[in-house]
This record gives sequence, structure tokens and C-alpha cells, in this order.
Amino acid sequence: MLIGAHMSVAGGVHTAFARAESVGCTALQIFVKNASQWRAKPLEEEHARLFAEERSRTGIDRVVAHDSYLINLGTPDPELWQRSIDALVDELERCEALGLEGLVIHPGSHVGSGEAAGLKRIAQGLRKVLHRCRGFRCRVLLETTAGQGSNLGNRFEHLARIRDGSRSPDRIGFCLDTCHVFAAGYDLRTAEAVKETLDRFHAVCGLDRLGAIHLNDSLRPFASRRDRHAHIGEGEIGRKGFAGLLRDPRVADVPMILETPKGEGLKEDAKNLDLLRALASGRNPRRRPGLRSLEWRKGTLAGDRGRGTGKRGTRAKSKSRTRSKSGAPSKPPRRRASRPEKA
Ligand SMILES: [Zn+2]
Ligand SMILES: [Zn+2]
Repeated sequence: MLIGAHMSVAGGVHTAFARAESVGCTALQIFVKNASQWRAKPLEEEHARLFAEERSRTGIDRVVAHDSYLINLGTPDPELWQRSIDALVDELERCEALGLEGLVIHPGSHVGSGEAAGLKRIAQGLRKVLHRCRGFRCRVLLETTAGQGSNLGNRFEHLARIRDGSRSPDRIGFCLDTCHVFAAGYDLRTAEAVKETLDRFHAVCGLDRLGAIHLNDSLRPFASRRDRHAHIGEGEIGRKGFAGLLRDPRVADVPMILETPKGEGLKEDAKNLDLLRALASGRNPRRRPGLRSLEWRKGTLAGDRGRGTGKRGTRAKSKSRTRSKSGAPSKPPRRRASRPEKA
């Protein structure tokens, strides 16, 4: 089973492996540069060497990257569009140098230009990117989105259209984010619902093209088009849905990555991973008191969980703004990275 988490690369890209190893990851996602800045120092050769070394030492071979929050291939602004293309080329070059199998990207936002124009623009941008990165093995993985604001990618059809318009369909794969698709209106709350959603995905995009899955529960309700990640089993999707996904043989070889809130250290990742492994093996462990989100207690992640199940739910209600401290790519466009990383 390939289960891991998005890990910080503070101290160099290679440092992510030790973090991943300490909580038993078998897959990994990283940023290949600071995700909230355009500029970045070139990848140091020494770091790339250490990266390969750490990769083989830990045996964590399935590694993907996530692109910067600033990139928007769907923008009607020509300057930002060009900048996004250049930035994406730079990121793909880093991924290729590190031997990563995929770079997860958010398709983009149309910013008022309309869905059709936005999708066309994204495909056009990707054509340019892929042309400049001829011969690369690293694929671009288009991520499903919640459809917040003018974000595109909340329908599977969007992703398929972008792939088809890129003229290099073989170099495009997909990343399915559970929180995002659920918020976009694809149900995942039961094993049957998961099966149906995966069937729909397969019919439009192809499960054979699925290069990564992001495992996040959703703080917001079904079809809310709001992107707020919650700890596994503590959101609106719930344990049954994740158990169904983890046990579906069609995605057994797809790296599954947590992007749930983090506090100090990796305690939250460890708990989420323990629970995922239990669910995957058919167990449903009793909730321990400490499992509830530390982030909520600290008041950094607020929201009404509204589970309404009575015995499991305490309701944390607050009007303060939700903010992820994870450094994980949960809510890209307007999010201020609270802990910038340097690759
Ligand atoms: Zn994601
Ligand atoms: Zn993402």
C-alpha cells in the first residue's frame, strides 16, 4: 500500500525523506521550491545527490511534487500567464532532475473570462510547457478542485478537456483529491459512493491515468464547493468512505498522500496514517480522546464540523478564519503560507 503525506523540505529537498520515514510513509509529496514565491534559487547539486541517497536509503520511491500556489495557467492576464508557464517549466525541470514521477498542478482559474476560455487557456499553456520540457519522464498531474471561486477542475470533464487540448495526452495524468471532489459534488461517504465516483472518473479521465490521490477529509459539506481539509474521519466524508477507497483494488498502486493540518512535529500525520492503515486492513479502531484535531484546540483551524452523529461529534464553532498551518497545499489561491519552506 502506498500511503504517505506532504512533507516539509525545510533544510533541503532530501530532508523530507527522514520526516516521511519517521511516520512510516511509503509515498511522499513535496514542494520543489518555496510554494508562495515566484523566485527560487536553483536546485543545488549536492541536495539532488542527497535526495537520491535518502530515497534509496528509506526505500520511499514513489514521490510526487505539488506546484506553487501562484501559478495560474487559466488567467486572462498575458503577463501572469507567461510567468506561470515559466514557473511551471522551472518546477518540472526540478522534478525531472530529482527523478519524480509527477508534478501535481491545480489546473487554474478563469478569473472572470469564463469556463470555456479558461480551459482553452490552460491547455494552451500546458502545450507550451510540455514543448519546452520535451523528453521529460515526469508527468503533469492535473488535480481535481473544489471549484471555489473561478477555479476550474471541479468537473472530471474539465480535466479531460485540458488533457485532450494539451496535444501530449501521454504526458498528462491526474490527481484526485478526496476533499476537493467531495466538495465539488462527487460523493465519497460510503464504499458504494466511492465505487460510483471512481467509475465516473474512469469513464471520463481513466483510472489508468491516475497518478496520485490526496487523502483529506472535508470540513465543509457535500457539494459546498469550499476547500477546507479535515483530519481523516473527522470531516464530512468520514471513515467509511476512506475505508472504501483504501480497499478498492483499482487504486492499489496509486500513491496516496495526506494533506491534512499539521501542528508542531508530525503527531497529526502519525495519527492519520495509523487510522488509514487500520481502515485499509478492515479494522475500525475506537476513537482515542487525543485523536480530535489539535488545530481546533489551538484555534488555528476553526469551523463547524456539524457531523450530527451525537456520540462522535463535538462541535467546534468559531467565526475566526480557517487557516492551515501544515504548509501542505490545502487551499492555494488566497492562502498565506504560514511557514514558508526553502528547498
Ligand atoms: Zn490536494
Ligand atoms: Zn493541490
